[in-house]
Amino acid sequence: MASFVSAAARRLEGKVALITGGASGIGESTARLFSHHGARVLIADIQEELGQSLCNDLRNSAFFVRCDVTKEDDVENAVNKAISEHGKLDIMFNNAGIVEPSKPSILDNDKAEFERVIRVNLVGAFLGTKHAARAMIPARRGSIITTASVCSTIGGVASHAYTSSKHGAVGLMRNAAVELGQYGIRVNCVSPYLVATPLAKDFFKLDDDGVYRVYGNLKGEVLKPEDVAEAALYLGSDESKYVSGHNLLVDGGFTIVNPGFC
Ligand code: NAD
Repeated sequence: MASFVSAAARRLEGKVALITGGASGIGESTARLFSHHGARVLIADIQEELGQSLCNDLRNSAFFVRCDVTKEDDVENAVNKAISEHGKLDIMFNNAGIVEPSKPSILDNDKAEFERVIRVNLVGAFLGTKHAARAMIPARRGSIITTASVCSTIGGVASHAYTSSKHGAVGLMRNAAVELGQYGIRVNCVSPYLVATPLAKDFFKLDDDGVYRVYGNLKGEVLKPEDVAEAALYLGSDESKYVSGHNLLVDGGFTIVNPGFC
């Protein structure tokens, strides 16, 4: 008789997860879902008030650590906090990210702005992967997940900086998956299409009838943060124990139907 891991009601029972950008949007929703499935969650963010209030909601299963993912000391400190509080780190979710509301032309792109986005979205994922991997190696197991985007596979949807950062996040993930497999550490990305969060609000266009207009998604809908959290739950759980080096698109088919979207 087969025994399925997914039969367990609490799919992350006993696991410890660190979620960057955990105070809002996809990170918040993932913190709630992980906690519901039995994980102890460390919420790492620069928005202290929001993060603390989420921890209050989640009671004993979550606590907050202030962490700017562009600062190596902050990221190392957050990982150390998971170890000192819970003795281990099973899941690292590199999810913190920013986007520019506009798409400036490459001809007059601003270098400082380009670097700002790369620092949060790509350097942040690098630092999270590095310090989480160091903490996971002794246990010889772990799951590292980075939130990329449909912009990791196609161009023209968002700014040059954002697209470069998300392509970079997938490259980083692939190299790390090869290198860390020997330690039993899996490394993957989850890549959503437009999700209804504060980050994407400038991309939403309301139709006259008040409905969000979306382009080229098979279901014609903007995603909810929970839709991405469910994918992160799969990648964080033992149900995906042979999945590594994968970029899981959660896009309703957007990238297959509309690769030339601009
Ligand atoms: P959000 O703005 O709701 O959440 C992002 C969180 O990251 C915020 O809590 C913010 O405080 C935090 N953050 C920003 N800079 C940080 C830093 N330097 N250090 C630590 N935390 C920082 O947005 P979201 O939509 O939930 O975004 C989460 C991830 O999903 C991002 O990586 C984003 O690029 C990606 N994504 C979003 C969409 C979308 O349409 N919303 C689509 C594809 C990918």
